[in-house]
Amino acid sequence: MPAADSARPAAAAAVCQFTPDPWSTQAIVAGHGRYLMPSYKNAPIVFARGEGPWNLDQDGRRYLDFSAGVAVNGLGHNHPDLVAAVAGQAGRIIHQSNYWHNEHAVPLAADLCGRFERAALSAAGVELQARAFFCNSGAEGTEAAVKLVRRYHSRVRNQPRPVIVTVKGSFHGRTYAAMSATAQPKYQDGFDPLVPGFRYAEFGQLDSIAAQLDGSVGAVFIEVVQGEGGVCVPPPGFFKALRHLCDQRGVLLGLDEVQTGLGRTGTLFAFEQEGIAPDLLWLAKALGGGIPIGAVLARDEVAQALQPGTHATTFGANALVTYVGRVVLGVLDRDDLVGNARRMGDYLMGQLRTRLGNHPRVQDIRGRGLMCGVQLQGDVQAVIAQCRTRGLLVSLAGADVVRMTPPLVIDRGHIDFAVEQLAAALG
Ligand SMILES: *Cc1c(COP(=O)(O)O)cnc(C)c1O
Repeated sequence: MPAADSARPAAAAAVCQFTPDPWSTQAIVAGHGRYLMPSYKNAPIVFARGEGPWNLDQDGRRYLDFSAGVAVNGLGHNHPDLVAAVAGQAGRIIHQSNYWHNEHAVPLAADLCGRFERAALSAAGVELQARAFFCNSGAEGTEAAVKLVRRYHSRVRNQPRPVIVTVKGSFHGRTYAAMSATAQPKYQDGFDPLVPGFRYAEFGQLDSIAAQLDGSVGAVFIEVVQGEGGVCVPPPGFFKALRHLCDQRGVLLGLDEVQTGLGRTGTLFAFEQEGIAPDLLWLAKALGGGIPIGAVLARDEVAQALQPGTHATTFGANALVTYVGRVVLGVLDRDDLVGNARRMGDYLMGQLRTRLGNHPRVQDIRGRGLMCGVQLQGDVQAVIAQCRTRGLLVSLAGADVVRMTPPLVIDRGHIDFAVEQLAAALG
């Protein structure tokens, strides 16, 4: 039998022989109201193309994308290596089940585990061996993390500790356990009964978390910087104290790095800036550059909880998504995009403070790296809409925060344009 040759040329990216009918912008906007469940309230723009940090709508208007699909398009749009990776791997093989190996899942796991291990060592002097579980989204990462810590305590430690403490303003996804972990009433409204076994404390307040920790608590799950909650940055020393508290009480520390992970905050993992190492963490958004993939990374002892048959997902770890993950990580390294996120994050924060720091509507400017929030008084949605008509895409976080999560490939010129438009939109 011939040996597998992953270097062979992929099938040519041939022109698709079936071309669906094009729809006009107007037809799509009307069709959205008629055919889709009304769960998304969309702005009336149909994006048809991308070019690095720019997005083009069907009518050719250009927008600078400082949302990046909510921190997903870390490499920007249509990155040549990402395009080639998707086409190339699709031309070899897209999917097989997890009953067999493919060429990329194990190498991607090795790469991610190695990065987690080195970060834990350099940030906190912690030596650990990590293992990965691949899934398809952030919420699925949270789900796997919930199952992992519950089964770890009940089957590895033989002492059930089913309760997980999360914090107010958090966001962990929309599936049932993830929604139950998300300590924000607006995401849970009308969905009772929730998954039992979650308790909520205050973000950044150690006493509040400590008060929830009894012998039934198996883990604290928390974002390092709250994304959807409003780009909330922890007070200095909070995570070190939390790590110490968890150690004292035999509680696992699980970090939801779905939004902060993979360079967004100026380090590969956001926890590196806190001088701690978690027992487990999970990633999704930026890992596939737009191709759906998530990963849970955990210390070996914890990871042992997921013995054969305990957890699985059909699409997770297929050859296409894991190949793309490898390419994304490789491009981050090759082009020093984590360093660029740190440098551009400093510049963005500086420009926002200089230009908007004294604006009467600006309450606060905060963030880490290229995850920035500008908290406003008054109608924030109107400001976001104004930005859009000026060719800048930003998103809402929390009740009153304009969030900027641009691609990690931006330069100073993009930042100048964005700050200019936001300033003009504020008037
Ligand atoms: C976006 C997000 C999720 C949910 O990810 P999905 O892919 O939408 O399921 C979970 N946690 C955090 C911190 C997020 O930002």
